[in-house]
Order: sequence, then structure tokens, then C-alpha cells
Amino acid sequence: MTDASLPVLLLNRGGDRRLRAGHSWVFSNEIDVARTPLTGFAAGDPVIIAEAGGRQIGSGYVNPSTLIAARVVDRSGHALDRSLFVHRLNVALALREKLYEAPFYRLVFGESDGLPGLVLDRFGDVLVGQIGTAGMERLRGEIEAAIEKVLKPSALIWKNDSQARELESLDRHVQVALGEHAGPLTVEEGGFHFEVDPLEGQKTGWFYDQRANRDRLAPYVRGARVLDLFSYVGAWGIRAAGFGASQVTCVDSSARAVEATSNNAALNGMAEKVEAVRADAFEFLKQARAERRRWDVVIVDPPAFIKRRKDFKEGSVAYRRINEMAMQVLERDGLLVSCSCSQHMQRDTLLDAINAGARHLDRQAQVLERLQQGPDHPVQAAIPESDYLKGFICRILPS
Ligand code: SAH
Repeated sequence: MTDASLPVLLLNRGGDRRLRAGHSWVFSNEIDVARTPLTGFAAGDPVIIAEAGGRQIGSGYVNPSTLIAARVVDRSGHALDRSLFVHRLNVALALREKLYEAPFYRLVFGESDGLPGLVLDRFGDVLVGQIGTAGMERLRGEIEAAIEKVLKPSALIWKNDSQARELESLDRHVQVALGEHAGPLTVEEGGFHFEVDPLEGQKTGWFYDQRANRDRLAPYVRGARVLDLFSYVGAWGIRAAGFGASQVTCVDSSARAVEATSNNAALNGMAEKVEAVRADAFEFLKQARAERRRWDVVIVDPPAFIKRRKDFKEGSVAYRRINEMAMQVLERDGLLVSCSCSQHMQRDTLLDAINAGARHLDRQAQVLERLQQGPDHPVQAAIPESDYLKGFICRILPS
């Protein structure tokens, strides 16, 4: 049975529809605030969520000051404690062990693994985690105990520096919670080695979500000049070099990322082929176009331009602009690899942005492949927001 000592959060009539369909979010306007005022809760309080008639749906946690006011964590009557987290970690681990030979992957992908607000990436025996909600933060002790039990990591690093934490009124910090850690980590991908800095890097340090997509470059880049925009530590570019690209230019606005790209190129014996440039991608493209520089393949894998729903319009324009500018430096019959990791952007909207850019330049885009996040970032069928990574490999032809 559910923990009877927990307070109850009552939903409006019909306010349970999304949860019934399998989603785990409750928006504030779905709560019966007359009977269970949100002001009666503190950020992160565990609750039992119940439909208007009183029937319990499950347990989870609440935050009275965020748009997503509550999230369901469990529907089977377990307490939100170490043993539940041990179970969830084991279920998540079983999938990844089936998928990958080596322990390098996203082990927990939030809601999709039944752990809303928690992300855990595995780098061998080091784990790098991110807690994004006040509710998960409250359960942190139980989570750490579960991680220790299931994985016995040499270190667990909390990379709790996301902006989302501010909205949840959580502090931002980076901290080694279990074990000890110093220095960079090494990730292996496609036979290449990349040094990753879990303390100072982007997100957890590495983007496992694009691994399978980077594998798809193989048939397209042999002998090609490749431009990798928003390259971070050079994953796409160096993989392209490995698949036989003749020359690769990686562009990122972060000095640290550019330095890491050069190091990673050298680490893999690709220093001569890979050039790492520190620049704003839009500015770089403007200048490259003015100088009439051209590439056979351009990869556009930017940070989320649409972070919140209200940024949709502005963000969509940015996708359209960057893709159009990328096409302007493409050779005739060139290849555009274009991605969006914006949760609020539908796959079709990205394709529309690519097409609008192509039409404006009097070109046409042939979609050759559709890209999505790897299977260590499972899409929860009931949660469209979990299907966040979209991409296309397009051939760009004169019309
Ligand atoms: N493609 C990478 C991940 C990209 S993360 C991979 O597969 O690993 C986004 C990167 O874009 C970050 O490294 C960030 O420094 C960089 N960035 C953000 N805004 C930028 C801009 N305007 N121009 C160039 N780089 C930018």
C-alpha cells in the first residue's frame, strides 16, 4: 500500500486524463486547489495524487511554484524509498546491459525510466548525475544509497548546474557525492577515444544520445570536407575523420570545447585532418560564405534553441536561419545533417525549417535518414516530451 502518512493532492474532475493515459505530469490548473491548496505544500513534498472522486492514482512529488506542479513516480503502492530506486535502477540497467558491451551509456533517462527529475550517465565505474526537480532533490539520500547498492561506483558526481534547477528554487552545484574523482574521463565511441570533463563540461560531459546517429555518417563522409557546427568536444567531426573525411572543421563558441576538440583529435591520431575553431556558428557561417568557402557535408547540432514553450517562435526562426546559412556553404549536391534537441519542437517543425531554408535558396532537400535519440534514452510512449531529439540527414540539390 501507498504510504498512508503522505498528504493527498486532489485533481479536478478530468484533471487525471493525462495521468490515466500514462503521462507522469500534473499541471497546476489540473489540481483542485479549493480542496487541496498548493500553498499548503513546500517544493518537493512527497504526495499521493488522487482523482476528483478520491481514488488514488499513485505517489509522487509536488512543487507549488512550477508549471508542472506534480509528477507521479510510482503507481503500484511502493514508498518512494531506496528499495523502489534499487528496483528502478535494476530495470534500467537490464536494458543497457543488453544494448552495450561496455559500461558507457545513459543509465537513467528521467520519466522514461520511471525516475522523473533524474538523469544518470555512466562512464565506466564513474557515474555523473543530474537532479532537475525539488522532489528528486528531497529523495537524494535514498537515490544515492540505491546507486551505491546497485552499481558500487568508484565515484558519483552530481552535475547539478542546470538552469532548470533555478526554476525549482534549487541551488546550482557540482559535487562528488560518493567515492573520489579527479581529472578527465575517457569515453569510447566507435573505436575512438574522447576525453570528457565531467566537472566543467556541458551537461554530464558527453552526449550519448547522438552516438548511433554519428555511426550513420559512415557512408556519406569518405573523402569529404566536413564542417561540424556546435561541435563541443568534436564527437561528430572526429568520427567523420575516422570514417575517411579528408578534412574536418569543428566550430564551437566555447574556448574549453575547442581546446578539448584539438586534444581529442590528437588523441585519435587525427590532428592533421581536424581543425578546431572558436567562433559563434552564425558569425562563422557569415564569414565563410563571404570568403566563398564550401564543404561537402555540414553538421548542425546546436544546443536547444527552444528551451521553454514561450521561446517557440524565436527558436524556430533560429533553426531556420542556421540551416539556411549552413546550406549556403554547402557544395552542390552536398549533405546537411541537421538536429534539434528542443523538447518543444516537433519533428515536422524541424523539417519545415530545413525546407524553408532550402526553398529560400532555390534548392530542394531530399531526406535520406531520420535521426532520433539512442535507445539508452528511451521514448516513453505516453510522454511526447521524452521524444526530444530529432534530426535529418538531407541531400541538398539545386531545384
Ligand atoms: N554536437 C555536440 C553537442 C553540442 S552541445 C556533440 O555531439 O557532442 C552544444 C554546443 O554548442 C556547446 O559546446 C556550446 O558551447 C556550443 N554553442 C552554443 N552556442 C553557440 C554558438 N552560438 N556558436 C557556436 N557554438 C555554440
